[in-house]
Amino acid sequence: MEITNILDLDAAGIERFVASLGEKPFRARQLMRGVHQRFAGDFLALTDLAKALREKLEATAIIEAPTVVGDATAPDGTRKWLLDVNAGNAVEAVYIPEDDRGTLCVSSQAGCALDCAFCSTGKQGFNRNLTAAEIIGQLWHANRTLLAEGSDAPWVAQGRAPITNVVMMGMGEPLANFDNVVTALSVFLDDNAYGLSRRRVTLSTSGIVPAIDRLAEACPVALAVSLHAPDDALRDRLVPINRKYPLAQLLDACRRYLPFAPRDFVTFEYVMLDGVNDTKAQARELAALLSDVPSKINLIPWNPFPGAGFRTSPRSRIQEFQQVLTDAGYVATIRRTRGEDIDAACGQLAGRVQDRTRRTVRIHTPGTPHRAP
Ligand code: SAH
Ligand code: SF4
Repeated sequence: MEITNILDLDAAGIERFVASLGEKPFRARQLMRGVHQRFAGDFLALTDLAKALREKLEATAIIEAPTVVGDATAPDGTRKWLLDVNAGNAVEAVYIPEDDRGTLCVSSQAGCALDCAFCSTGKQGFNRNLTAAEIIGQLWHANRTLLAEGSDAPWVAQGRAPITNVVMMGMGEPLANFDNVVTALSVFLDDNAYGLSRRRVTLSTSGIVPAIDRLAEACPVALAVSLHAPDDALRDRLVPINRKYPLAQLLDACRRYLPFAPRDFVTFEYVMLDGVNDTKAQARELAALLSDVPSKINLIPWNPFPGAGFRTSPRSRIQEFQQVLTDAGYVATIRRTRGEDIDAACGQLAGRVQDRTRRTVRIHTPGTPHRAP
């Protein structure tokens, strides 16, 4: 008999599964709360369920997050878990504690097929999509571990979970793993699970245009778009998916998304690469480009990794770039890098991917089968 991993299921899935055991829908909600709010690791711990149901669950289901194969904490409190996702592959989840929130940066794929020039995940090629359980399991694991260790975050004392914000900014392109990512998002938002508001969940994409439209319908969370260049010629080089979905199409998709979005702006991420995309003229071009999309711009000092062939822009240049944008009326922030000592900073997530032979597999675009700002 097939064993069901409860971490793989959203509310509808749990309801179907519980019905298949001959149980009422309210049992599904109890089960969901037990797993995602009390972080039960086995069914016998769910003492509010009848013993007969617990025994049925023991026989037919599991609660299984990816196995932790590494756990490192930086001096600034940033913590990185390395999670085994089978066949020699590992992905990373990063916890970023701040005074008023606890953010988890979640991975969606082992590797990434999109091959952005400056990204270490992209450089290792694509292995496979994570399952919903592997995505949801990152949040389940982080909350469960931080609670068990005794989090001192003030909101935890008030009965909230340690993780208050989720950013889909770890390894992989979330919109290239659409169905599993949407299942995970719906569990993040579900009141019987993590109950996060849509503005506390941010999905970052390199710009798979049809999937942005599908996300607006399926689960419109806060949107961050990895721009990195103010013109198509440069973006074609830095973010190769631009050759398929150039800037005009991407910005149109952002405008279509906004009416569905929980925030009234799109966050544009812009990694600062010395001598590549960081001149004042480029800042002015960027300001002009975004003039009719309500936006916030997040400038990310590029995190180096060996053999990348880029340098981080000097601090002064990043500040000048920011100033041009501010003068043009934009809210532009410079991202503080966190967790550098443990290679947990944005875009440094390398994990481990054994099978690099599928490097040439290009992304299936949706429609075909297949810290928060
Ligand atoms: N695939 C998605 C989400 C994961 S990457 C995307 O590309 O948006 C999250 C962010 O980190 C993206 O903006 C990405 O461009 C950026 N990034 C990638 N490599 C980086 C690096 N070495 N230094 C800084 N940011 C990087
Ligand atoms: Fe993939 Fe994002 Fe890295 Fe590009 S920046 S290779 S889309 S993970």
